[in-house]
Amino acid sequence: MKRLESGINYARYEMGELIVVALRDGYGDMPPSRLRQDGDRPFGSDLPKEVKLIDGKLRLSVNAYLVIGHGQHVLIDTGAANAWDPTMGLLLDALNEAGVARDDIGTVAFTHTHIDHVHGLVAADGSDAFPKLERLLVPQEEIAMFDEIERLARFHRRRLPFADGFNLNAGIKVVVAHGHEVGHSVFEVTSAGETLLIWGDTVHVPSIQFARPEITWEYDDDQARARSARQRILRRAARPHCFVAGAHLEFPGVGTVVPRDDAFSYTAL
Ligand SMILES: [Zn+2]
Repeated sequence: MKRLESGINYARYEMGELIVVALRDGYGDMPPSRLRQDGDRPFGSDLPKEVKLIDGKLRLSVNAYLVIGHGQHVLIDTGAANAWDPTMGLLLDALNEAGVARDDIGTVAFTHTHIDHVHGLVAADGSDAFPKLERLLVPQEEIAMFDEIERLARFHRRRLPFADGFNLNAGIKVVVAHGHEVGHSVFEVTSAGETLLIWGDTVHVPSIQFARPEITWEYDDDQARARSARQRILRRAARPHCFVAGAHLEFPGVGTVVPRDDAFSYTAL
């Protein structure tokens, strides 16, 4: 996988016969107390010194990824639009900057149904963000959660559930990583002997969770399952010829994972 070009809000990569475009939706600043240890206990003065803070806060990028190939444009996650912080909601600008027409996107698939991943289906002006959408894929365990999101009511009848092993097309397969949310899923993209794991919220805070993957996140629905899913996906990512793309890794959030001592390290691409 190699980077072909990039701008402020996008980066375009080539992987075999596929093109992958990283899209910047923005970022969110969060208190470091969202990091959890030993089950569900926040850090205090024992916050590890490696944790990167900006004005005392964790800054989480919010990214989405477009996979172009097999005759389809598949968008994984959609950012927050205007449903959360005003520091988010750039996705449509990012697509425009990347030279991708909104009308080209026929499939949207969600890693899970949290605000910063699904609300971009509806643009800030209330219009459909992707007017030619044909398939809308939601983890089967989160269909009920999706159907409770009022702002997305027009899509409730259109969503299709997916489960572990589902093939979005010949090059994209679902690998479940339940824990952060009940249906949290990773999209495994393969081409020409290379693999890319578009892994959603497997890592929230890259400055510490590669080195200490046992550290969890306040918003993990099930702390223990989120921890073991992260460890399992990190081991999978650390195989040869594998790359990762993370919704909250520092934009563009694409890179490689290698084992280091009894944990991992990450190198951006
Ligand atoms: Zn998220």
